[in-house]
Amino acid sequence: MVEVTGTAQRAAWQQKTLPPVELVRPGLWSIPVPMTGSPLRYVLVYALARPDGVALVDAGWPTDDAWTALVDGLASCGYALTDVRAVLVTHWHADHHGLAGSVREASGAWIGMHALDAAAIKGRSDPRDWVANISAWVRNRGGSDADIAETVGSVEDARRFRSLAEPDRLIEDGERPLDGIRAVWTPGHTAGHLCFFDEGRRLLLSGDHVLPRISPNITLHPGQTADPLGDFLESLTRTGELEADEVLPAHEYRFAGLRDRVAALHTHHADRLAEVTRLVAASPGATTWELASRLTWSRPWPQVQGMIRRSAVGETYAHLAHLARGGVVRRADGDIDHWRLA
Ligand SMILES: [Zn+2]
Ligand SMILES: [Zn+2]
Repeated sequence: MVEVTGTAQRAAWQQKTLPPVELVRPGLWSIPVPMTGSPLRYVLVYALARPDGVALVDAGWPTDDAWTALVDGLASCGYALTDVRAVLVTHWHADHHGLAGSVREASGAWIGMHALDAAAIKGRSDPRDWVANISAWVRNRGGSDADIAETVGSVEDARRFRSLAEPDRLIEDGERPLDGIRAVWTPGHTAGHLCFFDEGRRLLLSGDHVLPRISPNITLHPGQTADPLGDFLESLTRTGELEADEVLPAHEYRFAGLRDRVAALHTHHADRLAEVTRLVAASPGATTWELASRLTWSRPWPQVQGMIRRSAVGETYAHLAHLARGGVVRRADGDIDHWRLA
């Protein structure tokens, strides 16, 4: 069973407020940074005291209120922004990496991340190209013009959320970017996702890889590996072998019981793969978009809107790609997905 250790965080989660800045262990704080307008509501940035200042794990997403919360949060831990020496990035998503460049500008801190996520940033295209590519992706999954209008977002959004700082250092699996903090490469949610393991205190800073309540979005979008779900399930098995007393995730709240949470996530995806297989059997030739609309989600499909809908389709696509790799389903030739049992 998963035991909630971040009880103040969970209370805030239930009351739809922002949790407090907390001292989790001596010299280790969690700083909630708001994500206004997102159902995730906040990202938990971690501050680690270093002999010469402070290091951050993730930085928050690039909005003014997030920046203010990060600066104020650091101040309540006793640090100025200029004390930041390093930003370890779990993965390139804007809610984690978005403010890293501004932190570096203000402090001179170095930014470290995995090479595959650095490549995702470097390979990012012009915002107009990105909107065109993702529109084509929606169409190839079986989406309509209305679906493109609803789920892709504007060139302006793409500019804001996809112009991300390139790292100064690359962090490899097993490396210790800070004394006592080991990087654990956990591809799946992104190709270069990293968790950070505090070896002395047996704490896992899990980023978006393992969260207490929701399963991380495993999607297959342009620029990802061929089978991100397969990568994720392998990472998950490796993560479950870590001797962690407490998990410090990037969203929701802290918890204990990593092994049980890993087992529950494996079960979730096994059930999901079975559900997708049944749906393909029941509606041969269906597109990814159609299959997504018939799957069970946490809310009825008409309420799965905007970016969340695109993520849901991406998640369905990742499951189909994994099943195709295992020889269970097959995609007909052509631009637009049509799935059948193999
Ligand atoms: Zn993420
Ligand atoms: Zn996230």
